[in-house]
Formats: sequence, structure tokens, C-alpha cells
Amino acid sequence: MIIVLKPRISRKEEQAVLKEIRKLGYIPHVMRGVARTVIGAIGDELTHANLETLVTQFPRAVESVTPIQKRYKLISREAHPANSTIRVREHVIGGKQFHVMAGPCSVESEKQLLQTAEAVKAAGATFLRGGAFKPRTSPYEFQGLGEKGLKLLDKARRVTGLAVITELLSENHAEMVAEYTDIIQIGARNSQNFQLLIAAAKTGKPVLLKRGLSMKIEEWLLAGEYVLANENPNLLFCERGIRTFETYTRNTLDLSTIPIIKRESHCPIVIDPSQGAGRADLVAAMCKGAVAMGADALLIEVHPNPAEAWSDGAQQMSFDMFAKLMKELKPFITAAGRE
Ligand code: PEP
Ligand code: MN
Repeated sequence: MIIVLKPRISRKEEQAVLKEIRKLGYIPHVMRGVARTVIGAIGDELTHANLETLVTQFPRAVESVTPIQKRYKLISREAHPANSTIRVREHVIGGKQFHVMAGPCSVESEKQLLQTAEAVKAAGATFLRGGAFKPRTSPYEFQGLGEKGLKLLDKARRVTGLAVITELLSENHAEMVAEYTDIIQIGARNSQNFQLLIAAAKTGKPVLLKRGLSMKIEEWLLAGEYVLANENPNLLFCERGIRTFETYTRNTLDLSTIPIIKRESHCPIVIDPSQGAGRADLVAAMCKGAVAMGADALLIEVHPNPAEAWSDGAQQMSFDMFAKLMKELKPFITAAGRE
């Protein structure tokens, strides 16, 4: 930590601050400038006390305290310099392979899900997405088919061979959801529900953590840290747009998170342009940008008849749109060094 002292304080006041720093387990190094004195406090900031209270404890002497170490540990590049790869069935995410996870926003019926699974598989997707438990803003909107939806996902998995990703909404359902899915999705609205993150981590399944509606990147990394800290190394970050002042799109898809997550952490990053843009007509462009910027996978909503979807109709792609997108994405995937 860097502690900046106020100008013209007495030696006695300075000594009191130094004594407190030592008491808290740090070794202080005093640097005396012309106008100010700066103290470098050496010690592990993650295991020692937080020195930020010096500002309020010594208001006459201490101007500011700046931490140097990051608050996250296991998730950081420093802890794990190489990219983490996540094995899911026969697939590996985060390495050379590029993956597309596609399917309806909500699982609605056997026919809807199986048709969609066949269509996205034929177009080249490797994962089937679909919500069985839906986090809806209004309690009067479709809440998902629950376990029946999970069983349909499992059936679609058996029929098509696609791997499955679906959302976990409640700690009580962690074991049940884990039984039917290959990746557990934690939605934007639950991204800082730490007990849910721990329950998801403990199932042992890979966890895809969406970015919260108004979540800072540091908060997102710390939420991911919960999964790794609970002995589950298989975490994927998923950017799905954040709330801004803009209303043209449903959310503002923050593609800057791709290089930032890659720099700060070793975990793969998935981009969800469907929730991000909220409009099917913008999804293809966002996908191409995401691939070019180094995303490891895409999560895309596809529905047999978007106009009649039970949730998120405006942003779901038709089968034709999706098949066209998958063709157009190929050169971008190759240019990004992926296959
Ligand atoms: C979804 O994937 O359908 C969904 C509800 O996502 P989010 O949590 O990002 O809103
Ligand atoms: Mn959706």
C-alpha cells in the first residue's frame, strides 16, 4: 500500500502512523520528498489488515492510502499465466476450438426444443442453450418449465449429441440442474448471489457467469473468484451487455471486456450478443466483432418462430438467420486463429 502523509505534520504524528502500520503486520519504507512524505507499506494486502482505515484513524496525518495488490487471487493471470481450458464432454473451451452455444431463450416444448437443437447443430453449433428456470422481471411472465424443461434438454442432448447449457436460479435446484446440464449458467440478475455461486461451484460442473446488469469488471472478477475459491477451476465469463443511458439497444454490449478479461484473468470469455443487443438484426455484427476481438465462444438465442417466442422474441434469430450467420462467421474464426 502507498500511504501519502499530509504536509507539515510533526515527527510524533508520523511515528504514530508508522507504529500502527507495523502493528498491522506491514514493513514501512519512508520516502521523504520536498513537500510530502510517502510511506510504502510492504506486506500481503490480501492476508493483512486493510490500511485504508489510516485515513480516518489519523485524519490530521494521513492524506490517502492506495492499495497496490488486486483483490482477486485465483482468477488472476498472475496466479495462472496460461489460458485455462475447460473440457466439456468432447469439447475444449478456451483453446484453439471456437464454440457456438445456441438455442431458444426458454425451453417451451419438446417440438420447439428438438427442432431448434437439430437446426443449430446442422449449422455448426456445439452446445444447446435453453432456459428451464427463467429469471423474469415480472412474476406474471412465463417462468420456465422447470424440471420438465431440464428433461427436454437432456433428451435433446441424447438425440443430437449437443452439449447443454442452462441457467440455475436457486440454490435448492443446484443438484437437479447439474444432473441435466453440462455447463451451469448463472444469470445477470444473480451474478452477485454469492451463495448461489458457491452452490453452483460445488456441483463440480463448469460455471458460466454472466456479467450483472450494472456490474463493474472488478466485481465480476471477484464474483468469479467465488467459484475458484470453492474448488471449481472451470469458470467462464459471459458478457451480455450492461445498462447505459442508451435505449436504441436493450443493453450496451461491452466488447472491451474481451481484452480486459483476457489480461486480468486466465478464464475463457463468452459473448452473448442476444441479451446484449436485444435485437436479432444486430446480433450478426456483434458476433463478428466478438470473434475478431478474441472471444472464446458465443451464446446466441435461436427460435423456430421468434414472433411467437414465450420470452425475448425480438432478439431471437430464426433458423435461416442463424445458418447464414454461421457461414459468415467462418472467415472471422479462421482469422482469429481458431477452428
Ligand atoms: C438468458 O440467457 O436468457 C438470460 C436470461 O440471460 P441474462 O441473465 O444475461 O439476462
Ligand atoms: Mn433470453
